[in-house]
Amino acid sequence: MIIDGKKIASDLREKLKKNIIEIKSKFKIVPGLSVILVGEDPASKIYVKNKEKFSKEIGIDSKVIRYPENIEEKTVLNKIIELNNDKNVSGILVQLPLPKHINKQKVIETIHPSKDVDGFHPINVGNLSSGYDTRIPCTPLGCLLLLKEIEKNLSGKHAVVVGRSNLNGKPMAQLLLRENCTVTITHSKTKDLKSECIKADIIIAAVGIPKLIKGNWVKKNAIVIDVGINKTESGIVGDVDFNEVSKIAKAITPVPGGVGPMTIACLLNNTVECFKRTNS
Ligand code: NAD
Repeated sequence: MIIDGKKIASDLREKLKKNIIEIKSKFKIVPGLSVILVGEDPASKIYVKNKEKFSKEIGIDSKVIRYPENIEEKTVLNKIIELNNDKNVSGILVQLPLPKHINKQKVIETIHPSKDVDGFHPINVGNLSSGYDTRIPCTPLGCLLLLKEIEKNLSGKHAVVVGRSNLNGKPMAQLLLRENCTVTITHSKTKDLKSECIKADIIIAAVGIPKLIKGNWVKKNAIVIDVGINKTESGIVGDVDFNEVSKIAKAITPVPGGVGPMTIACLLNNTVECFKRTNS
């Protein structure tokens, strides 16, 4: 089975659109999302454009603040403080990566945790690992929602997360733990990745290496979620060898059209959640 991320993301956006209509009639305002984009990174520009487009489509008041590559760190931090204090702004997102002269950690820590739609603030990271209510990073949340489309109850499943980034692998592992999975986290120093993957009921691949996960690494009937987005000469491919693995797995996400659309839909979801938390 191929998991249709586009359709599942579109359903989530429809649900959020209805939510926003209700919010508007009750509060006379709509959730606001402010995105800060520094520099001219082509991939970041596309991501931000899509975030803006989908936000507007569902009724979120979306604003993009663009700065040149050489902007001073202080200017960005001051803008975040201004947005923290702006009642019309429910969520703040600073598009990563940032130029080297801007301290990413400082930027993330300046965003107020209640407006941290990406779930990267250390307070929100701590909340997630403590099992408390928090904003969950968008890509792992999207992966979990895709998994739940296939299997409502993940309890007792053996999940192998490939990659341990703060953006994807680590929060993904925390989310799966919350679902009572037995979780193995693997990374670049893992000795025998194949022997870990072959034991998995669920594989989440978030590495950035084209087609790393092969057909003979995957147990029959496993669910495979491919986070990877890799540009190759033959187009965009994931971290999973789709042709091989789709013959073995019970369900698999395609690239593109799997996790990618869910990431944006979950950003919109987090913006609405931030609004609800501050207005309830
Ligand atoms: P990252 O570079 O921050 O982390 C990669 C991780 O992979 C590291 O933890 C590293 O230890 C691990 N790794 C590297 N080589 C490995 C190997 N040979 N075996 C096992 N593990 C290995 O990357 P990231 O930001 O987590 O992104 C991962 C991929 O996901 C990239 O392709 C990125 O473009 C993509 N991505 C997709 C979305 C989406 O919405 N679909 C969102 C974010 C990132």
